[in-house]
Amino acid sequence: MNKPLMTIAVDGPVSAGKSTLSDALARRLNILHLDSGAMYRAVGLYALRNGISPDDEAALNQVIDKGQAQVTVDYRDGQQITLLNGRDVTGELRGEAVGAAASAVSRFPAVRQYLVSLQQQLARERSILMDGRDIGTVVLPEAGVKIFLTASPEDRALRRYTQLIADGFNVDYPTVLKDLQARDEQDSKRAADPLRAAEDAVVLDTSSFSFEQSLQAMLDIVEQVYGSH
Ligand code: C5P
Repeated sequence: MNKPLMTIAVDGPVSAGKSTLSDALARRLNILHLDSGAMYRAVGLYALRNGISPDDEAALNQVIDKGQAQVTVDYRDGQQITLLNGRDVTGELRGEAVGAAASAVSRFPAVRQYLVSLQQQLARERSILMDGRDIGTVVLPEAGVKIFLTASPEDRALRRYTQLIADGFNVDYPTVLKDLQARDEQDSKRAADPLRAAEDAVVLDTSSFSFEQSLQAMLDIVEQVYGSH
């Protein structure tokens, strides 16, 4: 008998560990992982590269309307590759400037509609774990498992600061904390699909958890629905 398809939505604020935990969990379950934030980052990158202010809704509407920022994803050795107009931009999506641009462009309904429909297509007829801000509420409201991953702002800022330093960025902790709080505010207060836990999501606060403990907690939630793997 075929195993039932698994649909797992992981949402939460910036630096809650969504991407790395989702990646590890998807590998354990042997299913595809879609980091939806990378798609918003690709649109943010397009704006930065083309001298368009990420706050200019009219200009971005045109870009989406004319199909000037085509976002696609591919998988290489199980790892997501994000393409912008056919070019692999995976390595250019981290960093604060692109993150801030992503957060700005993601406020606009035209950008969201474009990316949400791509995400929904990717989730059709295959098992998938998708992480983002609106996966359990908007993109995959029928997901079998919904996890809302969170941790205190200070904890998330410290993780983010450590990661950025490791990646070679020259940042200081107070600025990272301030940027993260601004991003939380923008993501949760925007009118279009704001960040919030779906009513049927399991809220997992990982403030005092190690990576392994967080992963195990997520696996336990999945196993309650889909059985053990
Ligand atoms: O998760 P990540 O930090 O890569 O996401 C970048 C930005 O894209 C977020 O700050 C958020 O504003 C936006 N985003 C979104 N909806 C998603 C994923 C990301 O609005 N599903």
